Amino acid sequence: MPTDVVSGTCVYDPSRLSPAQCMGDACVVCHTKWPRPRRILGELPDGAHVYGCDECAGLMGYRPVPARRSLIVAR
Ligand SMILES: [Zn+2]
Repeated sequence: MPTDVVSGTCVYDPSRLSPAQCMGDACVVCHTKWPRPRRILGELPDGAHVYGCDECAGLMGYRPVPARRSLIVAR
């Protein structure tokens, strides 16, 4: 699992990613290489960005609203 280090920035462990994912050639979530992932989903410890496709970016919640919140609001 990615670890939150700075708010909004996920740092991924490169040992758990494929070389293509580390290079930004493949989505870090679903390994899709085409269409080329364009959303920055986080970074590696060396500061290189890792990318994800639009779908996975949406799944990972680009909006910083936790799913739990709706339960609290709904009561
Ligand atoms: Zn993806």
